[in-house]
Amino acid sequence: MNAKCAICDAVVVLDQGSFQAKRLRNRQEKMFLCPACCERIEQRTKARHATGQFKLYRNKKKKRQLIK
Ligand SMILES: [Zn+2]
Repeated sequence: MNAKCAICDAVVVLDQGSFQAKRLRNRQEKMFLCPACCERIEQRTKARHATGQFKLYRNKKKKRQLIK
């Protein structure tokens, strides 16, 4: 199975039965990143995180009250 990296357009051949290939097939909205981009992003993100000026904008999950 061929997968194209969303950033650098490199085509990576994935093993048909691998976990990554399965995930891509089942969830098409999932973005594929080649190992080189993945590593680069990881390093840059960690470096930015180390500066202390990096915020993750995650919204807090509200507790849903199921019984009213
Ligand atoms: Zn890439």
